[in-house]
Amino acid sequence: MQHTLKKSYTFEGKGLHTGAFAHMTIRPAEEDTGIVFIRSDIGPDARVRPLACNVSSTARCTTVSEGEASVSTIEHLMSAAAGLGIDNMIVEIDAQEVPILDGSAMPYVSAITADGLQEQDAPRKYFEITEPFRYEDAESGATIEILPADSLSVDLTADFNSKVLGVQRFRYDSSIDYAAELAPCRTFCFFHELEFLASKGLIKGGDVENAIVIVEHPVDDATLARMQELFGVGPLEVRQGYLNNLTLHFPDEIVRHKTLDLLGDFALLGAPLKGTIIASKTGHRVNSAVCRILSEKYNK
Ligand SMILES: [Zn+2]
Repeated sequence: MQHTLKKSYTFEGKGLHTGAFAHMTIRPAEEDTGIVFIRSDIGPDARVRPLACNVSSTARCTTVSEGEASVSTIEHLMSAAAGLGIDNMIVEIDAQEVPILDGSAMPYVSAITADGLQEQDAPRKYFEITEPFRYEDAESGATIEILPADSLSVDLTADFNSKVLGVQRFRYDSSIDYAAELAPCRTFCFFHELEFLASKGLIKGGDVENAIVIVEHPVDDATLARMQELFGVGPLEVRQGYLNNLTLHFPDEIVRHKTLDLLGDFALLGAPLKGTIIASKTGHRVNSAVCRILSEKYNK
């Protein structure tokens, strides 16, 4: 059966990239609504459906747009909805970017699971494929293979050519507890990207409280001091390849977060996929390109 929320929940905070403060309320919705974003700062009709056909950007996060309304960095909220099995939900937000919160899907999951979900009166619709699918991205070396199956599973390999991370692999299926095993896993970035991202006007809401920072190359004290200033934080040091701002929840938290992201991106299909996904080196761009191709092929 389809499920929605039992009640409404409000989250607020800064967007990771825009730095803009947003208030966001997720509300129960009727059967067959799907997930719908409403930009309440524009007006009650400024609706955006988070579907592959509405993806307008995948630079560092997933952005969906319809008409003049855009919502960005939707992936962690979408992942929480997919992971918990929420079919119908209204998301009202008064800014363009979803708050980054702690960089994971846990704030949503802990709020929602405290009350449980509301079962509804219509059967759940699934996204079913009839033949194997394969996609290769020459630019990044990413691959995604999907085989028809009775339920969803994901076998994801994350390889950033990183000495710190190595090659990490994670398998997700219905036996894995999303709330315990994936939801707490936080977003991440490489230290050597920070200055570049900041110079591009991104990560304005980054404060090293909400991201795992991987330090691949030796860093001198002057650079660390510059980062402290940029993010307005206390003394930074490098511990075993990571900045000292936080402790890992899992040794393979990075590939778990990539799995969390992939589940959020595949929610762009508009219904839970029945399929076995075998993916390597993928990110928002490749995930949403695959969802677009599948939607065009099967949603006729
Ligand atoms: Zn993410």
